[in-house]
Amino acid sequence: MKILEADYILTCNDNFDIIRDGAICFDENIIEVGTQDTLEKKYPQAEVTKAPKNTLIMPGLINPHVHLEFSSNRTLLKYGSFIPWLDSVIQKRDDIVGDSTMECMTKELNAMLFCGTTSLGAISSFGGELEACAKASQRVVFFNEVLGSRPDTVDVMFGDFRSRLHQSFDCASNRFFPAISIHAPYSTHPILAKNALSIAKKERLNVSTHFMESPAERAWLDSGTGEFAQFFNNFLPNARPLSSAMEYLELFDGISTLFTHCTQATPEELNKIINEGSYITHCPVSNRLLGVGKLDIETLMQKDVAFTLGTDGLSSNISLSLWDEMRFALMIHDKSSLEEISKNLIKASTCNAAKALNLACGKIEKGLCADMIALTLPQHVEDEKQIPIQLILHTKKTHWTIIDGEIKC
Ligand SMILES: [Zn+2]
Repeated sequence: MKILEADYILTCNDNFDIIRDGAICFDENIIEVGTQDTLEKKYPQAEVTKAPKNTLIMPGLINPHVHLEFSSNRTLLKYGSFIPWLDSVIQKRDDIVGDSTMECMTKELNAMLFCGTTSLGAISSFGGELEACAKASQRVVFFNEVLGSRPDTVDVMFGDFRSRLHQSFDCASNRFFPAISIHAPYSTHPILAKNALSIAKKERLNVSTHFMESPAERAWLDSGTGEFAQFFNNFLPNARPLSSAMEYLELFDGISTLFTHCTQATPEELNKIINEGSYITHCPVSNRLLGVGKLDIETLMQKDVAFTLGTDGLSSNISLSLWDEMRFALMIHDKSSLEEISKNLIKASTCNAAKALNLACGKIEKGLCADMIALTLPQHVEDEKQIPIQLILHTKKTHWTIIDGEIKC
């Protein structure tokens, strides 16, 4: 049993309580949270560690949407607009995926650990990151992805998906959770999606999908026109959209799902997602680089909708650090107060993401896994309400990253 003490504990609990001169008593789980005096008296046998001055302890960050298979990319892809980017991904895919070796992906996972990401949702298109994720220090929800739009390939694609899913089941543990990703409404045949989702329902697996990421996707699903019409014509002449956006959403009825991007979703579609108890994942850097618009998280905040924040992969980002993502989001969402947006971005990266991924972490709260990070600010922060802002502005690396009560770095 250990006690960790710091100037502040940012609990990320339902009241967003900040405890001054706080302490956390824990083993692999959090036993009690309180003030230093109280916990030292109550648990005299515990080993006490004091964090440096101006340090704050908060839950480890949770990145629900990362594509590690593209980790080797730096400058190979074309940014600015979705379809030219997609064309460049198809053209360079073999090189990028080939160079994204176990060593390369492990390096990125470790970099995420140093920045404080203690859990992640890995979207796996080909299964190439299975070993790196199974051996990672972090908690990983491993989303085996299914896609394929041609009816004549549905059986083959489903067979491949099932074999990857089974391989991931062999790695299941208390830190590794097999899960299912349906790629997107424009790329996944409804029969494939239905079959995969029936497994998710039966096995109670987490589900993720990309949804309404680009104006091209909007035009294609609404009317079979736009850049996707030209794109599909190259592979499949006379292709038609596989479903409407609403029909696609209906496939997920009764399944809590993470819908990533949603930049082009209508208010009606967003309401449908929220009313089903599903979650929206915001990837602002990726959205900017691919020129697909900006999710209006401020309207979500006004309606008290819990959203999550993801980095997407290095195919559409320059960093997998959620602090970098939060800094960017803080700058581009300027309609609400800085205090309000900062608090919501931190909740998106902790408690909201834990709920969305069904993980027993994301808050400093009794009974949850002891996944915590210690962050040392360069100076004292006078006004507690300003702490989330200063954390987002200044954090690059953690002082400690702790998972299941163990210091990992
Ligand atoms: Zn993605």
